[in-house]
Amino acid sequence: MRRLLLCALALCILFSAVPLGYAEAPEGLEQLIYESHKYNREADITDYKLTYEEFDAIFDKMAAEGKLPWYAETGYSYSYNEVSQLLLSVTPMVSDPKVYDRTLYAQKLAAFTEKCILPGMTPLQIALSVHDQLALHNIYDESLAKNTGYDLLVHGTTVCAGYANLYTQILNSAGVPCITVTSDEMNHAWNLVQLDGSWYHVDVTWDDPTADIYGRVRHTYFLLTDAEISTGEEPHYGWDSALPCTNTRYADAYWRNVENPILFESSSTSYLLRNEDWDNYIYRRDEATGQETLLFSDTDHYVDVDDGGYAFVHRGLSLAEGRLYFNRQDTICSMNTDGSDVKTEYTYDTKANNRFIYGFWLDGDTLQLSLANRDYETETRQQTLAHLSDRHVHSFTVTQQAPTCIAEGYTLSVCDCGLQAESDHLPSAGHDLKVSAKKAATFFEAGYEEGYCVNCQQETSQEIPKINFAFWFLDNYKYMLIGLGVILLITIFSPSGKRKK
Ligand SMILES: [Zn+2]
Ligand SMILES: [Zn+2]
Repeated sequence: MRRLLLCALALCILFSAVPLGYAEAPEGLEQLIYESHKYNREADITDYKLTYEEFDAIFDKMAAEGKLPWYAETGYSYSYNEVSQLLLSVTPMVSDPKVYDRTLYAQKLAAFTEKCILPGMTPLQIALSVHDQLALHNIYDESLAKNTGYDLLVHGTTVCAGYANLYTQILNSAGVPCITVTSDEMNHAWNLVQLDGSWYHVDVTWDDPTADIYGRVRHTYFLLTDAEISTGEEPHYGWDSALPCTNTRYADAYWRNVENPILFESSSTSYLLRNEDWDNYIYRRDEATGQETLLFSDTDHYVDVDDGGYAFVHRGLSLAEGRLYFNRQDTICSMNTDGSDVKTEYTYDTKANNRFIYGFWLDGDTLQLSLANRDYETETRQQTLAHLSDRHVHSFTVTQQAPTCIAEGYTLSVCDCGLQAESDHLPSAGHDLKVSAKKAATFFEAGYEEGYCVNCQQETSQEIPKINFAFWFLDNYKYMLIGLGVILLITIFSPSGKRKK
């Protein structure tokens, strides 16, 4: 009986040292990795007892789900125990600030998001608007040297990973669930977006034609099912997500054959251009009812270049300062958003150049023109529209906000219009507390601890609750049992004394 008691005692002590095994991302690890990237500092992950493979899978999943705060680099270096092969720490890969200016990126991202995402927009409108504006602003980098969302926003050129990662980041920030999926077999990346509980494929890259024609954005790969994206002339395959995309709700959506950006004036009104039998029609769309009102039609599509007249399709629709801009064969025109007051903004000499205006978009006050010859070989030209130079252009004043005891520090960019962007975050310092008065708790009475922060002087007062006997016993019974055991052993093995009578 005594031996049994000692065995139980030994087991109790052993149990408290058994490590736990992890199958999923363990609690707290994602937050630790997020903060290590946000604050650009090493994270000690020794306690998580992960192999490189286990950690890398968690890291890749976080990157795909847009849970890392910065998309210029998503890599890390690590240290590990050579005997156990378990990771000790991970450190974000530091990007060269001369190459990746985080403050500039934050400003570009804030301006881009403000332009795409208007107050009151639905998740569907956000997914559509961001898709269209990303394709509009980017030229696919055929040299494959640029591959980040940074490259897209700052340089206007990237490859699929750049489009997909930025799309994930912007949609998640706007509260629309979105992940990046990749296919090693295709060497390609795109997105899955969740709307009303169903997941859909979105491939911004493939909706942005190469070679780039300014102003052209297709909607061939916007909100597709697994079946739809796996079939057709250019099927997708081998993507690394098991999320099912089966809802056919958008199979025949109104945007399917629209090859221009759909322009949102507000969450209730948008504008789009349709091409039917070579003719172009510009519509205003009531977003609540889906009703389209015709604003302008252009059936004059015969151009005279290389001594011959022939039909062509021209594309281009932009919205600036409350007017719609569109192109015809040799002119860029503008009109009010009700279709009135059509004006010629720019005229191109098709005869002298043997080219016509094939597409355009309005980048601030600059017309970005694609000019094609008879074989649809394009060249580009920039043309400033002087009257648009007066519009508001964001200009940021940059200040440093030092971290305080309770708030993180950051670089703050503010424009006169109120637009703000934060970058280069530093963790809050935490209070440096000094105890000024203390009374310990007992079984019968609560105690307290009073103090103040030596940096911000904030006073703190904390009650220390009465000691709960049951919890105290659970915390301390091992020691009591050890003590009891020692007393028993001493009693049993000590030589019996002689009593004097
Ligand atoms: Zn501004
Ligand atoms: Zn403080």
